[in-house]
Amino acid sequence: MADLDVDLFVIGGGSGGVRAARLAAGYGAKVVVAEEYRMGGTCVIRGCVPKKLMVYASHIHQEIADAAGFGWTIPTASFDWATLIANKDKEIARLEAAYTFNVEKSGASVVKTRAVFEDAHSLRLATGEKVNTKYVLIATGGAPNHGAAIPGIEHVISSNEVFHLKHLPKRVVIQGGGYIALEFACIFAGFGSDVTLIYRGENILRGFDEDVRAHVRHEMEEAGITILTGCKVEKVDRHGDVFTSHLSNGSSVASDQVMFAIGRHPNVKGLGLEKAGVALNPVNGGIAVNEFSQTNVPNIYAVGDVTHRVNLTPVAIREGHAFADSVFGGRPTRVDHADIPTAVFSQPQVGTVGLTEAEARAQYTHVDIYKANFRPIKATISGNTSRVLMKLIVDGVTDRILGCHIVSSDAAEIIQVVGIAIKTKATKADFDATFAVHPTSAEELVTMRTPTSRHVRQAAE
Ligand code: FAD
Ligand code: NDP
Repeated sequence: MADLDVDLFVIGGGSGGVRAARLAAGYGAKVVVAEEYRMGGTCVIRGCVPKKLMVYASHIHQEIADAAGFGWTIPTASFDWATLIANKDKEIARLEAAYTFNVEKSGASVVKTRAVFEDAHSLRLATGEKVNTKYVLIATGGAPNHGAAIPGIEHVISSNEVFHLKHLPKRVVIQGGGYIALEFACIFAGFGSDVTLIYRGENILRGFDEDVRAHVRHEMEEAGITILTGCKVEKVDRHGDVFTSHLSNGSSVASDQVMFAIGRHPNVKGLGLEKAGVALNPVNGGIAVNEFSQTNVPNIYAVGDVTHRVNLTPVAIREGHAFADSVFGGRPTRVDHADIPTAVFSQPQVGTVGLTEAEARAQYTHVDIYKANFRPIKATISGNTSRVLMKLIVDGVTDRILGCHIVSSDAAEIIQVVGIAIKTKATKADFDATFAVHPTSAEELVTMRTPTSRHVRQAAE
């Protein structure tokens, strides 16, 4: 490719970059997307999609265990890791091709190479060419943190490698207490691995509602996962194929694989941001942007994980979409980051939207809590001991639902729809007026009549 002049140069072919590129091309802009690894980005290649496939695969053991109570006799089931990984890889390759196809179909071009800034209006490709551009969108995503350089850190894998293990490890140590750590702890436990989760704080899922944290921990422990809190991995030794994780509490755990899932950092290193004059957010290290995702350099924008705002795929997509509408569609669009529904695909899942009880009680004078903790119908004759948690947080003055928190096997599906109710400012009376769908777990959300607790904050507090 000879030196080129374009309207928009997008760095990164992930969720945010692809949406922005397709939309901008649709508005008539001449667009180039540079992707240094694989089109589709983290979500498609080594995040949401392969993870969800693995969640489905690992959950099948539970379906088999539940089957006996319903009268099924299933001959001893066996699982083949290599088949799962091969089928997953095939699907990811299909999606990668579809992403490239759809970008090109929109009229944008894809260059499979790394791109870095030469200055605010030009990019240098790793292949040597230079591209001059009117606008730049930085959509370079993020990458796993590895934490302090502890002895033996080279033996530790992250979510990047976990999708490509040659064998299913019999014993796994996972450090972290957030989304990825919980999801993979449950995935491996579902496949029958012996899983130890190491978390530095008091309880997993910091920032989530306290009842959710306690409920999920209990469910994971019931499923056989060992959760060690208040400690960290300080050193990892390797003896042949066995790894020993030495913990800050003096104990040690042997395993066949050690994984850290301790957060992610924005991909800003080596991008040449200083040549373009782009400033970082001093608090989170992401690219600093305003409500239109515009950086301090007027022709340069940034969306998605690289801005370290809310690191979720639908958020990156929405930000990319709003950027294209604002800059090329003639419709200045802000992204409203309030009340984003989200799910942790642990087993059982967590679905959450809006405020936690603690946040609501800090912000509102009157807060009513409705809570149900019950055994779902399916568990009755299957013998499964799993319980469901449903919790609504209500403003005691206006009756508005401020938050909803669910732990159940279908929490992610349910919370998507509750998200609409909360976004449209539904009240508890609206929930009460809605007929139940019976028999379901979700019907509890519209049948909880009496608050389990009411909290009134005195003016002096
Ligand atoms: P990315 O999708 O990361 O895309 C950035 C792209 O830029 C990458 O392809 C990268 O190769 C490329 N790139 C970087 N630098 C350059 C350069 N200089 N030149 C060219 N290309 C470059 N979110 C959810 O909503 N639901 C989930 O279930 C979920 N599960 C997840 C599971 C895991 C294991 C992980 C790690 C993340 C998960 N996420 C999930 C988060 C989600 O993947 C991210 O929020 C989303 O992918 C961010 O999109 P993005 O466009 O900002 O960046
Ligand atoms: P999270 O931020 O969710 O969790 C990080 C965990 O690591 C926390 O428990 C944190 O503890 C702990 N931690 C941080 N630093 C250290 C350290 N130095 N030593 C030991 N422990 C540490 O990050 P993840 O890596 O799990 O995932 C990254 C992001 O990707 C998520 O926040 C989410 O935005 C996105 N994601 C979304 C998913 C979904 O939507 N289902 C699935 C997977 C990822 P503490 O709480 O004490 O800070």
